Amino acid sequence: MGSSKKRVQSFKELQLDPLIQKGVDSAGYQRPFPIQELAIAPLLSGRNVIGQAKTGSGKTAAFGIPLLQSLDSRVNRVQALVLAPTRELAVQITSELKKIGAFTGARIVTIYGGQSINVQFEALQRGVHVVVGTPGRVIDHIKRGTLLLDSAKFVVIDEADTMLDMGFVDDVEFILDSVSENRQLSLFSATMPQPIVELARKYMRDPERILVDANDPTVETLEQFYAVVNQEEKYSLLTDLLGRLKPKSTVIFCRTKYGTRRLARELERQFQSVVPLHGDLSQHQRDHSMSTFRQGNADVLVATDVASRGIDIRQVDCVINFDVPQDTLLYFHRVGRTARAGDSGKAYTFVSPEEFEDFARIKQMSKWQIKPLRPEDASHHLESVQPNNQGRGRYGGFQPGERSRYGRRRWTQRGASRGRNFNR
Ligand code: ADP
Ligand code: MG
Repeated sequence: MGSSKKRVQSFKELQLDPLIQKGVDSAGYQRPFPIQELAIAPLLSGRNVIGQAKTGSGKTAAFGIPLLQSLDSRVNRVQALVLAPTRELAVQITSELKKIGAFTGARIVTIYGGQSINVQFEALQRGVHVVVGTPGRVIDHIKRGTLLLDSAKFVVIDEADTMLDMGFVDDVEFILDSVSENRQLSLFSATMPQPIVELARKYMRDPERILVDANDPTVETLEQFYAVVNQEEKYSLLTDLLGRLKPKSTVIFCRTKYGTRRLARELERQFQSVVPLHGDLSQHQRDHSMSTFRQGNADVLVATDVASRGIDIRQVDCVINFDVPQDTLLYFHRVGRTARAGDSGKAYTFVSPEEFEDFARIKQMSKWQIKPLRPEDASHHLESVQPNNQGRGRYGGFQPGERSRYGRRRWTQRGASRGRNFNR
């Protein structure tokens, strides 16, 4: 989960060329994203870098900033080459580079199939510093002699796994064989299938490997809490918490479809803007829930793990684990939905005595502190939970189904909680 390598805290710390810093500022980047915290410094120092991070994590600037900084504007030759699998991606990368390089005088051209080769030829002839292109068309230009790469010293393979899926690996190798051996090579990919690992092994000497788990929020931005509460009191604690936090974008996770449906229904009576997401809904209903939540028309999404797998929800400010996930990794997957890409977030986990064991394991595995939400939660020594004990009998003599000492009706906005049981 994440890298122990050095992270910079700010763009300032990188002491970028002032003109590039100005581009970064005007692009509106206040602080580096995790892949940028880790990859920019080694790239600036000339290292080969393999960066793994998922889509949307800011890989373009991670290589784009050092790429632009490596250019010598007095030299009228192609000094940097970025390969991307599709025209759309190539165009996107170019526009990002143009933003960051807006004040440096860097000339950047995109070359891809489908556009007139003559237009590209003229652009190349005028003299460019950076070429961003798709492999097929880059090879065309190399073969025609219209693209000379002997001065290219900064080479990037972006979206390497997609490149592989599209059958471009031989083309990429052809291109890499056409550039000088003294080039600095970096490779970015969301996943690292074996052929990509082999490509890297063949072409990169002593690369710095950087893995940014998309579900790996940073310690400064994610705050994690837990509360010890009997199963049947989770609901009133939840409404209490929601009433206090008034979060704008919250995902509540439950273990079961049944629990998810019930909880969503119950919350809907109190809050207007709640949407469910679970496997018993039709695809259409799920899409509807997701788009309502994404567009901010619902504050709360109640979901099962399965239904939420793979969906990319940005800007979740709060994750609530109504149930402790049985699988430890699922916990990190869930809380990773918040505090992404430098935003701050909070995660709360409701732990019933039956769930002590599962939670104790999570707590032990967590790199970062999971703090007791209330003073009374701290008195439960979750670390010393023994297997087979089920955590029972040591925590106020709790028996399943018993009423607890915590109040039931704390939160009374828009109709009092009916204190329903949410037993699984
Ligand atoms: P990836 O290549 O990893 O899919 P991109 O490089 O396309 O991701 O970046 C995703 C989005 O994040 C882009 O809109 C980009 O402008 C923006 N972005 C990148 N870095 C930062 C940053 N440090 N601060 C704010 N926004 C950023
Ligand atoms: Mg990208």
